[in-house]
Amino acid sequence: MNLLQLQTCDVKVRELDIAAKQLPAKLDPLRRDLAKLQGMLDAERAKLAETEAWRKTQQEQIDREREALKAAQSKLQASKNSKEFNAASREVENKRKAIQDREGELKKVSEAASQSNAQLAARDADVQKLRDNLATSEGEMSGQIAEIDAQLAEARAARDAARGSVEKSWLKTYDTLSAKRGYAVAPVVKGVCQGCHMALPPQLNNILARMESIETCPRCGRLVYRKELLEPPASADEPKPDGQS
Ligand SMILES: [Zn+2]
Repeated sequence: MNLLQLQTCDVKVRELDIAAKQLPAKLDPLRRDLAKLQGMLDAERAKLAETEAWRKTQQEQIDREREALKAAQSKLQASKNSKEFNAASREVENKRKAIQDREGELKKVSEAASQSNAQLAARDADVQKLRDNLATSEGEMSGQIAEIDAQLAEARAARDAARGSVEKSWLKTYDTLSAKRGYAVAPVVKGVCQGCHMALPPQLNNILARMESIETCPRCGRLVYRKELLEPPASADEPKPDGQS
């Protein structure tokens, strides 16, 4: 029965279509992980850049304070009386303290930054590893995808050929049933339509045995055939043109 053959081809095309769509999606979790990690790393790097900018301004501040310290020290050397001397030595002391404090702070921040930098490098390596994995998987997958695409092209050609061998009016019935019921051709086993599980009238079952005409199930409307006549025995494998399909 050419209609059954068409259905078999349609099923194959559908399966391959699904496989072709699902395969690339398999790597989506890995892609998501990678994007998330990359986002975290970018955020950390931005934070580090901010710290670095802050460090730079602090360093500039220290440089300016050193200049001021030098000025205070010359003032101290040039002091002509104890009043000037006391004022200048206080100033020198204050400047020294300010520089010391700022340097202490800067040192702490620098240590933290270099730790972050080391962590960042380690994570960078992890991300790179993940990226390599993804690339490898994508490479392997591209072969599989190409294979499925080839199978799909073949299945589509077989499907088109099968459609060509079915009479137009039946093709219309077939398409309508496929859209409405999911599939159009149903086997009959022991007198029961496997599409809707209704027992066919015995007369109809007898007509099916002759394989001379295309019949439909009175209940679900599917195109029916006796399973034992078309499926298991190898001798019945050869589709016989029955004049109507
Ligand atoms: Zn039925």
